Amino acid sequence: MAKRPRVFVARIIPKLGLDLIQQHCDAEIWPDQLPPSPDVLLAKVADCDGLVSLLTDRIDASVMDAAPKLKVISNFAVGVNNIDIPAATERGIPIGNTPGTLTDATADTAMMLLMAASRRLVESADDAKAGRWKTWEPCGWLGQDLVGRTLGIVGMGRIGLAMAKRCHHGWGMNVLYTARSVKADAEKEVRAKRVELEELLARSDFVSLHADLNDTTRGMFNAALFAQMKKTAVFINTARGPHVDQKALADALRNGTIFAAGLDVTDPEPLPPDHELYQLRNCVIAPHIASATIATRNAMAKLCVENLLAGLRGEKLVACVNPDVEAKRRT
Ligand code: NAP
Repeated sequence: MAKRPRVFVARIIPKLGLDLIQQHCDAEIWPDQLPPSPDVLLAKVADCDGLVSLLTDRIDASVMDAAPKLKVISNFAVGVNNIDIPAATERGIPIGNTPGTLTDATADTAMMLLMAASRRLVESADDAKAGRWKTWEPCGWLGQDLVGRTLGIVGMGRIGLAMAKRCHHGWGMNVLYTARSVKADAEKEVRAKRVELEELLARSDFVSLHADLNDTTRGMFNAALFAQMKKTAVFINTARGPHVDQKALADALRNGTIFAAGLDVTDPEPLPPDHELYQLRNCVIAPHIASATIATRNAMAKLCVENLLAGLRGEKLVACVNPDVEAKRRT
């Protein structure tokens, strides 16, 4: 009987994924709630053919070099900014991710944050619980309307378009977007208009960030950008924390440069409980829960394991972020 591949799974993922892995592989599954430390990760991958990683695991050249037999890295996420992609490609290691499986859940979270921040849901609910709800107040907890307003999408990919569809078809919003390339589907489906970032910031009532974290987007939302937004604008980030200069965001929220923000992602994660963003009543912060639905996490697990098993068999991954690796694949 052929030897079963050895695999390290860096966290407990949904059972259907673990069952499938254990059917086909000799797997070690990291049992803790917290990720393995970098040193432990290096030791665990040493003899492995496959690795299932999460966005909390930094997979750099040192990890790849510690695992000379590694044939595939399967990330349990669509974002792959935790992995050194050129290093993997250079070493002939394909990287899998989970595009599409979490598009709707993430767009729903962006919508949820947009509504919560616009209508001051968290601060008013906190006030009610703390006994500060004295009566029905004509001028209390006033927020922003949604219908017919303008949405600016930065990063009109799968999730950006899903968010735009919710806002356009549900609330009749006009959609602006910035992109490196024309997005014909968005222009057709939600009549989105491509504009320069400056125009998007000046005209949008809601700015929702959906670009992947790359060299052009890291630190993109800084003080200068917040200063170009409307005073009534609401900023939403369900992409990645390092897109945003958080000090600049906190200043913008405190000084009334913008109205409110809704964040699913921060830098670092978790954000320390004494962080200044938590002190601001116009900032709604969720602990990176955008893909946290039962069905979505199951779909992510299924695709993640399909990628892993294909990689172990030397086949093309179902979803591969570095397809140019094919010429160099490890056998
Ligand atoms: P996607 O389809 O690849 O969309 C990303 C888009 O960003 C692409 O259309 C890309 O445009 C655009 N982009 C990149 N750099 C840009 C720039 N400088 N200016 C404007 N647009 C830029 O990916 P997706 O599936 O929608 O996911 C997007 C991101 O969401 C992921 O990378 C991940 O970081 C994040 N995410 C977070 C969660 C969560 O739990 N909070 C869940 C899922 C995803 P081009 O096509 O022109 O390159």
